[in-house]
This record gives sequence, structure tokens and C-alpha cells, in this order.
Amino acid sequence: MGEFAGIVLHDSACPARTRAGFDFYVCKDGTVVTSQDFLDDDHVHVCVEGDFSEPIENMGLVREQMFVLVKLVLRLSSAFKFDPEKLMAHGDLCPGVEFPWHELKIRIDRPPH
Ligand SMILES: [Zn+2]
Repeated sequence: MGEFAGIVLHDSACPARTRAGFDFYVCKDGTVVTSQDFLDDDHVHVCVEGDFSEPIENMGLVREQMFVLVKLVLRLSSAFKFDPEKLMAHGDLCPGVEFPWHELKIRIDRPPH
């Protein structure tokens, strides 16, 4: 197990990585798919299924997906001992501009138990 600095977040429209290239994949139905190995020594790569360059159609569904994502972030930050705030976007366009960061911020500041 490496020493991770934090989490890099992607959406599934990410041009730079394929589905096989993520450590964790959070499906729209809340299922988390875990890959066999960590692919990067410095960061855990988490992909959220969906194209967040478009406005969110079903906010209820996405809210549930964000809840699963927050639980994953908290679990990883606790397992690898980094601050759960060390969650960064892959880039300016990944995840897309409509990604609901506010849904994560609220919950990471007040972690669910
Ligand atoms: Zn990406």
C-alpha cells in the first residue's frame, strides 16, 4: 500500500483514461467497482459514471451517487491517512463543469456516520 497524497476525480467522459484505468468507478446506481491494483503511486483515481459536461437531468439519482462517492472518499482518506479535502479534479474539463461539487463539500465538511 502506497502513501497517497489524495484523490483525483474523473467522470466517465474523461478522454485520458478508459474504464480500466481507474482505481474505483462509482456507477450511476451507486455500485462501486474496484480495480485490482492501484495504477498511480501518488493519487487514487476515482471515476464517477456520467458526462457532467451536460446539465444534470436526474438530480435525485446523482445525489445518491454523490453520497456513495463521499463514503468512498472518507473510507480512502481514513485508510490511507490523507485529508478528505485532498480531493481534486483531474482537470478543467474532467469532471465536467456541471459536476455537483457542492454536494460533496457539504458532506465532507460534516461526514456521515
Ligand atoms: Zn479525467
